[in-house]
Amino acid sequence: MAIPRFFVPLSADSLDEALSKGTEVALPEKAAHHARRALRLRNGEAVTIFCGNGKEWQGTIRIERDAAWVTLDRVAQPLRESPVRMTLVQALVAPEKLDWIIEKAVETGVTDIILTPASRSVTRLSGERLEKRLEKCREIARGAAEQCGRNVVPSIVATHTLEDALGGIDADCRLMLAPGAQEPARLSPSLKKIAFAVGPEGGFSEEEIQLSVQKGWSPVLLGPRILRTETAGIAAAVWINTILGDYPSEL
Ligand code: SAH
Repeated sequence: MAIPRFFVPLSADSLDEALSKGTEVALPEKAAHHARRALRLRNGEAVTIFCGNGKEWQGTIRIERDAAWVTLDRVAQPLRESPVRMTLVQALVAPEKLDWIIEKAVETGVTDIILTPASRSVTRLSGERLEKRLEKCREIARGAAEQCGRNVVPSIVATHTLEDALGGIDADCRLMLAPGAQEPARLSPSLKKIAFAVGPEGGFSEEEIQLSVQKGWSPVLLGPRILRTETAGIAAAVWINTILGDYPSEL
């Protein structure tokens, strides 16, 4: 079995200090519960913890009732981040699809996720409901990072409008994925930060595609088949990782 990994909401400094002083680090309640009930870990078993800064700390677990602590014995910084930064702008979609998209985006190496309303979004969220949804998405992202070995948890934010999402991204290539586009998606070797936008179930409207062009985005086609919204972003991340990232690309 792979060594179980747990995200802990602590600073890297505090974990380094715990390592040097030999003090225990408490696992969050849910993680402790998972360690005991689902993974059935025993005292002294090896675990890895990470806090999202790219490093991971290895140690051994101690479980007592519903709480668990880890004594750290070394720190490492394995290279698991893609060399290309990928920002996914995802139009709001049905919750079960969004959960799936977040999980797969983390697994395929997406660095930042921006959720945004689109005119054809069936799901509309604001205020407290939006905050709750964001918190759920962040929890899914942490879980996916635990599972897939990433020591960086992608950021997830929401914007009020598509215009805000399209306008505020630091990227050297901005691709508006649109099945009706004439241009095939292309990448050039010097790119380091790529943003791509995926529409809701019904796609982006013509006005939204025009808006994206005004904001410096290129409407592009990703192959000749129409993908569902929950497939498109993941397919794009895999495509980018194959050409510029850390997936094998030799023929
Ligand atoms: N009937 C809709 C389909 C939407 S698919 C339409 O024609 O627009 C949902 C989203 O996935 C789209 O908005 C787009 O962002 C992305 N997408 C799906 N297939 C694609 C393709 N072949 N090329 C580029 N983007 C695609």
